[in-house]
Amino acid sequence: MKRENWQKGVEAFRSVHFKKHEKDFLELVEKGQNPKALFIGCSDSRVLPNLITSTGPGDLFIVRNVGNMVPPYKPDNDFHATAAGIEYAVNHLKVGEIIVCGHSDCGACKALYEDHSGHEEDMIHTVKWLELGMPAKELALKSVIDGDSAELQEATEKFSVIFQLKNLLTYPYVKKRVDAGELFLHGWYYRIDSGEVECYDPVEEKFVSLKEVTKE
Ligand code: ZN
Repeated sequence: MKRENWQKGVEAFRSVHFKKHEKDFLELVEKGQNPKALFIGCSDSRVLPNLITSTGPGDLFIVRNVGNMVPPYKPDNDFHATAAGIEYAVNHLKVGEIIVCGHSDCGACKALYEDHSGHEEDMIHTVKWLELGMPAKELALKSVIDGDSAELQEATEKFSVIFQLKNLLTYPYVKKRVDAGELFLHGWYYRIDSGEVECYDPVEEKFVSLKEVTKE
C-alpha cells in the first residue's frame, strides 16, 4: 500500500503557511485562544471549515464528526466527544456563535437510506450514530413526494442541520445563553461542487444564500 510523504507536506507548511502566520501563532500561544465560533462540521475530507470561511489560526473551534451530528444532551458518565467540544466552547471559551454546517453529497445522509445488515460488528458505532439523522430522513420522505433521489438527499442533509440545531438547544447552558442573547446559532449548508454556503432562516423556514442573511 502506498504511503503518503507527510514530511514533505509538513515542511511546506512550516516554510510557507507557518511563516505567514507566525506572529498570530505566537500571540495565540501567549494570550491563549479566543475563537469567534464553534464550528460543527462533517468529518468529510471535502469539507474544510477554515478554507470555506477564509479563516485562520485562532478563529474557529472545530468539532467534526460523521454527518455533523449533535447528540441530544445526556449528562451521564460516558465518553461524549461532541458534547465535550460543545461544553468547552460554550462554557470555557465562551464563543458567541455556533455554526452547524451540513453539506451536499454527505455520505452519512446517504447511508440513512442503505441497509446495514451484515455490518452489525464492523460498523457498530457508525450505525448507532446514524440514528441521529433518522428524524431528518423521515421528514425528507414526507416532504419530497415526487422528487428524485438528489432532491431527497439534499432535503435530508438540510433537515438534518435543523434537527442538530434543535438538539443543541437541549444543552441547558446553550439554551440559557441563546435565550439571553449571548449566543447565536447558525445552520449552514455547504455545496461541495460550487463552494456556495446557504444559511437556514428560521423565520422563513428555509435555506437562503448567506449573502441575504448577512447584508443587514
Ligand atoms: Zn458528511
